[in-house]
Amino acid sequence: MSRRLDILVPFLNERESAVDFCAMAAALAAEARSRFGLEASFILIDDGSTDGGGALFEEHMSGHWSLVTLSRNFGKESAILAGLDHAQGDYVLLMDADLQHTAEVALDMIGRILADPDLDMVYAVRADRAESRSAGRYFAQWFYWLINMGQRYEIPANAGDFRVMTRRFAEAMRQLRDQRRFNKGLYAWTGFRQQRILYRPAERQGGESKWSRRKLIAFSLEGFTSFSVVPLRAVSLFGTGVALLGFLYGVKILLEVLFTGIAVPGYPSLMVAVLVLGGLNLALTGLVGEYVWSALSEAKNRPNYIVKTITGPQAAPAAQKKKAASARAIDG
Ligand code: UDP
Ligand code: MG
Repeated sequence: MSRRLDILVPFLNERESAVDFCAMAAALAAEARSRFGLEASFILIDDGSTDGGGALFEEHMSGHWSLVTLSRNFGKESAILAGLDHAQGDYVLLMDADLQHTAEVALDMIGRILADPDLDMVYAVRADRAESRSAGRYFAQWFYWLINMGQRYEIPANAGDFRVMTRRFAEAMRQLRDQRRFNKGLYAWTGFRQQRILYRPAERQGGESKWSRRKLIAFSLEGFTSFSVVPLRAVSLFGTGVALLGFLYGVKILLEVLFTGIAVPGYPSLMVAVLVLGGLNLALTGLVGEYVWSALSEAKNRPNYIVKTITGPQAAPAAQKKKAASARAIDG
């Protein structure tokens, strides 16, 4: 029996790329079969689209596919988990629906993971990011440096969700039910042997990126509070340092008054101390709040997503197989 490849495609309002994506998907499936003997099936995840794009995908997809429609927008991270929960293939490929992830790069990654049995994931890293000189890039560098500080595993910079993994990797990922999902961190946490390739994403086919600057910052914060205690430790350490300095300063003033009788002019030094410590207190309270919110989200233990419908020729393959088996039993 030929090996199976499940291709997970989360999408939100990608009406403009739907038709071209379906054409690309058919070509990709054909290539995967002829080059690697893989039987590809697509699992599309409609992450709460409001532009009617889901129907377009349904109309134009061919071959093996199913469409999992979520009850609302849960975010790409949760949509990918929904896809993983429905995947059964020997290999799982993640791809965007906006045609920024090309079939060519996908096939390259598939070839690599097939060639090396010790490899459980191949992921694509954006080459264009490393070259850019924008403020965003420096922010990203600093972010990865900070989040990776003192960790046992490294979250690689500029790597997204364009990845192919083995079944055992997918199963490991599926066990991680974090509510506030930060996939980049989860891939790294999972471990195994991973390989990176460099790629340049294509231009977006249509529509616009779902990532605003505000969303990116919120997402980074989410990454931090679910993967790093460094900010908390750093602030505690800084607080301790400041308190120590304050104490030494107090001793100095006391000695001065005792031995020279000079009263220190108070107002400016007081003001500095009040502002610095007050500000730090507020900042730290906010930071602790973030972690508490993160803990609260996990404690509620809600499902990561809700499925509205599953459609397509491959919908609920397990149930269909069972039906087919019982039909055969009756026939025989
Ligand atoms: N996406 C999604 N849910 C969301 C946001 C995005 O499923 O809440 C999908 C989107 O449709 C696309 C992929 O995730 O297929 C990547 O999103 P986008 O192109 O906006 O990100 P970028 O390429 O700009 O990083
Ligand atoms: Mg995109």
